[in-house]
Amino acid sequence: MQFIETRGNDGVRPERVGFSDAILHPAASFGGLYAPESLPDMSIDFLSEYLPSDYKTLAFALLKAFEIDIDEELLHAALERYERFDDPNDPAPVVQVEDDAYVCELYHGPTRAFKDMALQPFGKILSSLAQARGERYLIMAATSGDTGPATLETFKNEAPIKVACLYPAGGTSDVQRLQMVTEDAPNLKVIGIRGNFDDAQSALKELLASDTFREALDEIGLRLSAANSVNFGRIIFQIVYHVHAYLELVRKGEITLGEEIYIVIPSGNFGNALGAYYAKKAGLPIRKILIASNANNVLTEWIEEGRYDLRGRRLIQTESPAMDILKSSNVERVLFDKFGPERTRELMERLNTEGHYELTPEESRAIREDFAATYATDAEGEREIARYAEKGYLIDPHTATCFKAYRELRDEPLKTVIHSTAEWTKFSPTVARALGIEAEGDREALEAVSRRMGVPIPKVIAELFHKPVVHDTVVDKEAIMEEMLRFLRG
Ligand SMILES: *Cc1c(COP(=O)(O)O)cnc(C)c1O
Repeated sequence: MQFIETRGNDGVRPERVGFSDAILHPAASFGGLYAPESLPDMSIDFLSEYLPSDYKTLAFALLKAFEIDIDEELLHAALERYERFDDPNDPAPVVQVEDDAYVCELYHGPTRAFKDMALQPFGKILSSLAQARGERYLIMAATSGDTGPATLETFKNEAPIKVACLYPAGGTSDVQRLQMVTEDAPNLKVIGIRGNFDDAQSALKELLASDTFREALDEIGLRLSAANSVNFGRIIFQIVYHVHAYLELVRKGEITLGEEIYIVIPSGNFGNALGAYYAKKAGLPIRKILIASNANNVLTEWIEEGRYDLRGRRLIQTESPAMDILKSSNVERVLFDKFGPERTRELMERLNTEGHYELTPEESRAIREDFAATYATDAEGEREIARYAEKGYLIDPHTATCFKAYRELRDEPLKTVIHSTAEWTKFSPTVARALGIEAEGDREALEAVSRRMGVPIPKVIAELFHKPVVHDTVVDKEAIMEEMLRFLRG
């Protein structure tokens, strides 16, 4: 299967590329992204064939169905990364929380957030491809807390890849910061920036735009790649668990094969939702994908009103920081899939220059055939955390935004899968507050919630507070280049 560009081709890049080129060099013409030229058929025949399969077998079949240019041995090696999850045979357990609602827990990987589901196998593929081509790559990430740890974890000790991670000092939870600054491997660098997430992100952008920096990379022999969800290599692994969750409901006897369900997704950059969209398009019986946001509700407006409007909006810091996003990258792949490259380029350029675009009523209807959306405030989220804690089930503030969508957006009483993107342990101060527990900092909050609920703190989280800090660099924005070059030349 080949990949084509969401904003059309500039006549310089090839018109279509294979999977390996699309993931090593994810930047497409005119600032666009790569998207699959077609999708495999994953309707009833595929589903019934893989109904008895475990997660890895299903994932392997799905990757094969995409006919990507990665040999089987490497695909198997990539899927072996699920050995690092709590239960390698069931990396994404599905549990019932209401008569008709189930949570698919996507956070049982090494960094306790759903990013591991894709970044773990993706990291193996990217580093093996680089190795095979005799190339070295630099991956840079500005993180508000979940992407950073998951990116460091997947590439640690993978020599052909260097990872530099910028985080806002004081802007992440203790657990998230410790997950980064205790990550010890020669190919990893973590730098704290005095400022907030926006400052970290703009420092990264300035660096990428700097000729001095680019020339230095050339000199060192490093190419740039990306590990965020603009990279299709992440999206492909995010299709698998939507199919898996559906088959789990069939296996549990909750639905019959072919019966439609709703899926609810707490969304930021829309990668998770895009995986569900591709699954639906490939034939998975999904009635609609329900998109949950926090107070940064651009996606709600886009889906419900056909308007993507950044004018007058400022990023609001919420209790679900991984969803504090205004420019949601993967919306572009949906535009491309529905309206083609010319229209996508026009809309994306308007968004960049004028800060907004409006879909036609027909276009807007086409979006609402697949999606519905709403958002939850922090206070609403905390109420959901408290409500489920009372039933003995802990959810994190991102997952909490989903329950309002579940209650309000369904037109029919179909079975519903809610995708849970983080373990409560990553956001314990918010969870403690929701439960009316007073606690200072992550460590106290973790222990207090654990005691109250009788739920253990996983070893990988508890250990963080005792591991030595190996990355203690915190600098002003202006000093980033120098820090980076010292690391890359070292
Ligand atoms: C990254 C993340 C999200 C948002 O996922 P997208 O694919 O970017 O929409 C939601 N919740 C958590 C906990 C995350 O880490």
